[in-house]
Order: sequence, then C-alpha cells, then structure tokens
Amino acid sequence: MKKKHFASKLVHRGEKYAESVSKSKSIPIVMTSVFSFDDVESLDAVYEGEANGYIYTRNGNPVHDALSEIMANIEEGERALAYSSGMSAIALSLISQIKAGDHVIAAHVLYGGSCQFIKTELVRFGVDISFVDVVNDDITPYFKENTKVVYVETISNPTMEAVDLQKIAQIAHSHHAKLIVDNTFATPVICQPLLLGADIVVYSATKYLCGHSDITAGIIVSNKETIDKIYSIGLLYGPTLSPFDAWLLVRSLRTLELRVRQHSQNAMKLARYLESLPSVSNVYYPGLESSATKVIALRNFQNNWFGGMLSIELAGGEKAVYSLFRHLKSIKFAPSLGGVSTTTSYPAKTSHRSFTDEELKKAAISKGLVRISVGLENIDDIISEFQEAINKINTA
Ligand code: PLP
Repeated sequence: MKKKHFASKLVHRGEKYAESVSKSKSIPIVMTSVFSFDDVESLDAVYEGEANGYIYTRNGNPVHDALSEIMANIEEGERALAYSSGMSAIALSLISQIKAGDHVIAAHVLYGGSCQFIKTELVRFGVDISFVDVVNDDITPYFKENTKVVYVETISNPTMEAVDLQKIAQIAHSHHAKLIVDNTFATPVICQPLLLGADIVVYSATKYLCGHSDITAGIIVSNKETIDKIYSIGLLYGPTLSPFDAWLLVRSLRTLELRVRQHSQNAMKLARYLESLPSVSNVYYPGLESSATKVIALRNFQNNWFGGMLSIELAGGEKAVYSLFRHLKSIKFAPSLGGVSTTTSYPAKTSHRSFTDEELKKAAISKGLVRISVGLENIDDIISEFQEAINKINTA
C-alpha cells in the first residue's frame, strides 16, 4: 500500500489494539460517539435487532449497558437506563407516563428541582397537579378520573421522613395510577422500591451511586415495557451520559454497599450526638427514636441502616446557620450530597431556593434548617468539628 502522508498517519495510526491473550480486569471505557460497520447489511442487522451491536452513543454504548445491568439487577427490575443527570431521569420518567389533560399527585416535600419541574414543565404541558403531604395525609381523596402518576421520594428531601411506599403503591394501583419513586437518599442498599410496589425508580446517581462528587448522572429502573417506552423518548430529548461518566459509575457501584453501611453508621452517631445539644432544636433522621416515621423506615429499610442524610434545626435560626458554616472547616458548605466527605447544605437557599416563603413553611423547611450529608471520615472527627463550630456560633 502507498505510504500515507503525515496528516493521514495522525488520523489513522493506533486504531487497532494488538492481539492479546490477557483481558483488561476492569471493563473498558468505550469512549466513542459512533460505531463503524463493514457494510450496510451489518448496520441494518443491528437496527433490526438481528445482530448485537451499537450504532451511536445516544442510542447505546457498552458501558451504559454494563451500568444498566448492575442497576436492574440490584433493584430487582427488568431493565435500567442511564442519563446525564438525576433531573433528566426524573423528567423522562414523568413525561413517559403522562399526556396533556392528565393529573399527577406529588409529595409536597420533594427535591426542589423535581418540584419545580412538576410545577412548571408538567403544568406547561397541560398536566394538572396536586401536591399532597404523603406522610401525614391519606392520598385517596386526591385521586381523579385522570390521575396517572403518584410521585414521591423514599426519604423526603430535606425533612428526612420515610414514606410508606407499600401503602402508597396499593392506593395508586387501585386507582390505575403508576407510582414513581426517587430513591436517591435511600439507595438500593437500603430500599428497593420496586419490591414494595413502585412501578418506576429514579435516581440522581450524582449522589450515593457515584459517591465521589465527580460526575452528574441519573438512573431509571423499571420493567421492560416501561423502560422501552422511556428509551424511545430519551433518544429524542437526548440527555446522553458520557461513557466515561458511566464507567466511573460502574466503578463506584462496586463499593456501594460498603459506603452506604459506613454512611449510615456515621449518620446515626452524629444524629444522636446533635440531638443531645440544646442549641439544636430538632434532628431529622429516620433512624432516631424521635422520628415519626421510624416504624416505616424499620419496615421498608434493610439492615437497620437509614442512610447518610440528616437535617438539623438550629435554635438560633438563620444567623446561627451562617455562623456555623463559617466555623466548620473540613466540613464544606456544598449544595449536593452523597460524597465521601461530610458536607452541609442550606435547603432554603440551595435545593429549595425556588420555594416561596409559604411553600417553605408548608414543607417545614425553616431558615434554621441545615442538611448534613455525613461522609466516610472517622465519625469522632466529624463530631468534634461540629462540637467546636456549634460552640462558636454567634448570632449577634
Ligand atoms: N433527586 C434528589 C433527591 C436530589 O437531591 C437531586 C439533586 O440534588 C436530584 C434528584 C437531581 O439530581 P441531579 O442534580 O443529578 O440532576
């Protein structure tokens, strides 16, 4: 063959790997936007499902498939899909189940972004919404002829109430509605909503599933029929997860159980400690005796683990929160959660910033409420740091 020119060498050299008798121990990162074919017949065969293969990464990629296999398996679902953020997974799962003229019942305490999506986007598409206190109220009277979906979180963000998924699933199904559950805070290690009757489970995989605060991602798990429908819609909206980020998630999932166990044990110790302080007027954690939803958590959660998320109410209100954040040093104020290091967040100014004062009040999100994502440090160090910072709180 004629010798190639410099630019052609740059473009084509290194395309083939050497044959090898050994295999890579971790799965390869298939970092490609598109796949090539030897002929049109091979492409046709893949499109028609007659041959295994990939075409274009928005349609699918081997790393997405590896990730989906793990997630579907640990959730006891049939199939899973991975997207580029929790919000894209939430939006697609909701859109897939409703059309203009339908009605949705949603928990009145939800991650602010989900709430905002339901309130603005679904309403813009002509969907009628009822926000309901799914912990304290019976949802039955809120159903209408056209109710298609009930949307809740396993552990409400940021009030940390365990929601009775079994009961809600039964009521939803008796009204021919689907139950969609955001299981981000609990993770599949603690709760598997599909086994409790949910129809679709969604995750911000940005949090515990990834666990290292380095990517944004979302996951949806359900049965094959539902996932096939969401897959087709997702192709058109296109929130594709980068294969590299999918690979990081696969890597992270290998240690999910170990991490969630440690997060849970640390959070329980910190919750108990903070509950003993006079300057902390309330601690919200589903594992505490004082939690009104501990019975539900005990029934629905595995291993007596309650997750790594807790919220505290500072007696000194807003000023106390500002002062606390200034005095915490290794514990950063970072409005996300689920990473290896302990972080704080301030729901009234971050995740629930879009709520009006009235909505904040209704959802029991006060200006003194601090959300804590308890990390994997030695918990004695975390307790000492809170102790020191809380002692220094100055509300003058
Ligand atoms: N669900 C919950 C419970 C969350 O806390 C968040 C984000 O904080 C989301 C969904 C949205 O996920 P993402 O930020 O990955 O889009």
